[in-house]
Amino acid sequence: MLSFRFGTVGSPIATPKKPGGSVGGIQYARTIGLDALELAWVQGVRVSESTCQTIRSMAEESNVALSVHAPYYINLNCDEEKWPRLRKYLIDAAHYGNLAGATDIVFHPGTYFGRPVQEVLEVVLPRLQGCQDEVRASGNLVTLRPETMGKSAVIGSLEDSLALAHAVPGVIPCIDFAHLHARPGDGSMNTYKEWMQVLEAYRQELGEKSVENLHIHLSGIQYGPKGEKNHLILEEADLDFKALMQALTDSHARGRIMCESPVMEVDALKFRDLWMEISGEKPD
Ligand SMILES: [Zn+2]
Repeated sequence: MLSFRFGTVGSPIATPKKPGGSVGGIQYARTIGLDALELAWVQGVRVSESTCQTIRSMAEESNVALSVHAPYYINLNCDEEKWPRLRKYLIDAAHYGNLAGATDIVFHPGTYFGRPVQEVLEVVLPRLQGCQDEVRASGNLVTLRPETMGKSAVIGSLEDSLALAHAVPGVIPCIDFAHLHARPGDGSMNTYKEWMQVLEAYRQELGEKSVENLHIHLSGIQYGPKGEKNHLILEEADLDFKALMQALTDSHARGRIMCESPVMEVDALKFRDLWMEISGEKPD
């Protein structure tokens, strides 16, 4: 078995129309050699409990590990008045995701609104703690995963993500390496040494075992001075995927690598091939 499962964020593009949807996406992912899928509930959580049950059965039968990308509207730093409505997106993603068999709920933490990080964290941390408490109180064991983000104006530097995880036990970052590369906007964060520093910081903050359960987003990425512009296919990207895979190999990392490139499953399979090449691992 490989140390990483590979998949796409959202159903693979070539998923056949019937049965389509998440169930079809899971089936199709398996037929092409992928073994993870992130359900892209990014425009809202609009799924019934019975559909969740069907998704769960199909994922178990297919041995495809599931996560959820929660709606984009979540913003832990929004106005007091908006918060009850926005937090519900995260709570619903966790509830229905759990019913569907997902183990991880990825979300975008929100924006700074131009305020200093320290001030923002004072607002954000108790809110995230409240969400985490509510999820656990309902007996739900999913991991809430704030994503590292590609634009410098939004919450989600490596330091921010680790601060959230540190303050709220049970919360663990989703590491988007493309975003980490795009965020400084100067082409940095793209060498073996820098990736090793990221993984070391992660390990320091979250413990020795934490790198054995990584949830990674990966794609090529275009960026400017303010960070991320758009995702790119692997061949058009300046990201040093080989150096990254080497750093993951040398860190004895495990988990899932979820592809967000415009050609989704095509690049997910290329990441899988590259992983096998660099790590020397072979499938059973
Ligand atoms: Zn995302």
